[in-house]
Amino acid sequence: MLLRTAVFLGVAAAAGLVTSGGEGLPGTPAPGSGPGAGPGPNPAAGAPGALSRGLPEKAYRLRPMTAEAPARPPAAKPAVRTRPIEALPAEAGTASAMVLTFDDGPDPRYTPGILDVLARYGVRAMFFVCGEMADENRDLLRRMAAEGHVIGNHTWTHPLIPKLSRPALVSEIGRTSDVVRQAVGEAPVWFRAPYGAWNRAAFEIGAELGMEPLAWTVDSLDWTEPGTTAIVSRILKGAAPGVVVLSHDAGGDRSQSVRAIESYLPQLLARGYRMTLPVLPAARMR
Ligand SMILES: [Zn+2]
Repeated sequence: MLLRTAVFLGVAAAAGLVTSGGEGLPGTPAPGSGPGAGPGPNPAAGAPGALSRGLPEKAYRLRPMTAEAPARPPAAKPAVRTRPIEALPAEAGTASAMVLTFDDGPDPRYTPGILDVLARYGVRAMFFVCGEMADENRDLLRRMAAEGHVIGNHTWTHPLIPKLSRPALVSEIGRTSDVVRQAVGEAPVWFRAPYGAWNRAAFEIGAELGMEPLAWTVDSLDWTEPGTTAIVSRILKGAAPGVVVLSHDAGGDRSQSVRAIESYLPQLLARGYRMTLPVLPAARMR
């Protein structure tokens, strides 16, 4: 890891701010409004209009990376993106698919409750864990993996990435991948920036460590503790094909988040939605 990091630091030096649109820190302007945060090159952006019900126009669609990277061996690292993936691709099999994601854990007070509900309905989800939480709750990481969920990397201490030095960011991300690999045998292949605050360094380091960047489509805003009913309502209103839902299983009192999934998950399933997991672009090429 150290050697790999040192080599990588020597290769990549630039660090321009390339935040994702829409989701900002509480009380700060939305990222995307600052200098250098324009649309920029976006070679993998999806065609407008396709399967866009319920999705914002700017929604960034996951597509095979054939346009920017020809066939690669399976072990190749992901291409360095300029924006995170925000939704499932519009293609056969995803017409009624959604993805549930839970960030900031694991927390022994709330994560088991969410896992219990997911198990009750036979649904798999993604957990973007913070290293400092994961390190103390490896049993929960193992339960996630054993029950078929995907564990993603959400940094070690949940910092605002654009404020970090590159070595600090390498440590935040690398240590977290190490803990997950030690606990479940495999390092994460998905990465999510805290607060949705991405920059070039985050994309580069994530790709170097074999991860694709995943943002979200619908923010449940459960971290504001708006009440269980409000969380349920926001998710049901945001439900649409390809949507990636953001919720939290840690970072505060998440009892509302646990009660909410007991309500919205059966309702989504009753409406015909299928909870799924995203497929890595490299795997979709094969
Ligand atoms: Zn977070």
